[in-house]
Amino acid sequence: MMRIEAQFVASAASLDQCPQWDRIEVAIAGRSNVGKSSLINALTRVKGLARTSKTPGRTRALNFFALGSDLALVDLPGYGYAKMSHTEAARIAPMMSQYLERRSNLAAVLILIDARRGPEQEELSLAGTIRSRGLELIVAATKSDKLKNSERAAAAKRFTAIGVQPIWCSATEGAGIEELLRRLLRLPRGLTESGTAQPHRAATAPR
Ligand code: GDP
Repeated sequence: MMRIEAQFVASAASLDQCPQWDRIEVAIAGRSNVGKSSLINALTRVKGLARTSKTPGRTRALNFFALGSDLALVDLPGYGYAKMSHTEAARIAPMMSQYLERRSNLAAVLILIDARRGPEQEELSLAGTIRSRGLELIVAATKSDKLKNSERAAAAKRFTAIGVQPIWCSATEGAGIEELLRRLLRLPRGLTESGTAQPHRAATAPR
């Protein structure tokens, strides 16, 4: 398995607090408890890295992790769960949409969805936003180890609504982690002169 340097860089509570760098960013979104921290840890192979995102004051912020020399993972605040009050949700929603709509470094969004649940309205709506901005959508089905073989076909069918094939992942058993990492590393690199991430296309041309 490959190894890539990863480190926590910054938390941002608004767009203007985001790091100014040339890295392309992959935002990671998912409901609380979907297994986001575990997946980030498995991807970066740094134990406790994503716990940083759960320290007080950071759970409601965008958390930036540098990955290798030119990528960054951005842990988006969780959504769609009871623990967050309406007030908090109302504060986070504009930050999320500003980041998704305006952040020029953003190249792709990885949506995490529990393998047993499949996408629900919030994930489908987020997928729509991602597509309308021309960003690449990557879907990871988390905790796939909890699916019995007999449940797999029905589970796969539930994911068709989101329009892309999920990568079946298990942070505990390691399934899908390497495939997901390779997918992230294949994203087109570099920003254009206007400072926007290159539109997604097959990355064939050398830089
Ligand atoms: P987060 O709230 O989205 O960051 O979720 P966590 O990574 O903290 O995980 C939530 C719970 O799911 C924890 O109890 C984890 O141990 C468990 N979990 C996370 N990933 C997996 C997985 O791949 N397989 C299984 N069986 N459990 C997992």
